Amino acid sequence: LYDDFYVKSLIRTVDDWPKPGISFRDITPIFTNPKGMRMVVDAYVHRYIDSDITHIACIDARGFLIASVLAYELRKPLVLIRKKGKLPGETISQKYDLEYGSAELEIQVDSVKPGDNVLLFDDLIATGGTLVAAISLLQSQGATVKETAAIIDLPDLGGSNRIQSLDIPVFALAAYE
Ligand code: IMP
Repeated sequence: LYDDFYVKSLIRTVDDWPKPGISFRDITPIFTNPKGMRMVVDAYVHRYIDSDITHIACIDARGFLIASVLAYELRKPLVLIRKKGKLPGETISQKYDLEYGSAELEIQVDSVKPGDNVLLFDDLIATGGTLVAAISLLQSQGATVKETAAIIDLPDLGGSNRIQSLDIPVFALAAYE
């Protein structure tokens, strides 16, 4: 049975990391606790097992960890959205702004196509910049992003609102104001 309190107990807050003033939400205790890992994965399995999702896309690197297990369990293709320069072959890329500077995500062309219904997964939603860049990569290949899922949402940073304003639902297990 899903236990919200238990899952939150496996999210550790590290103050002043990676820089002074930032409180980093660390999910590594989920991965070192087999019961916690099962509970988290099962929450997504339960949500998506009877959905019309055809593909699971996930973001480099922590997004891979849960999404790959979910894709295995749901028997769906797994699509990797990676930081620039990691994927071989023909790719398309999308730049996006970070708090300081910018970053770039890439996807292999033809990894999704029109008619595909994609669940997009990452570990955490802050400003939403990362997920919005990933959404535009998937949409540029003609796919439909049916839902965005994360372990953690930080709603005060506006990312989940930004994604919902694109008419894409957001599902997160834990929110921190
Ligand atoms: P956004 O683009 O501002 O929404 O930031 C989300 C991205 O930054 C995700 O890919 C996260 O992995 C990463 N991120 C930002 N803050 C944290 C945090 O506190 N814990 C873990 N990852 C974070």
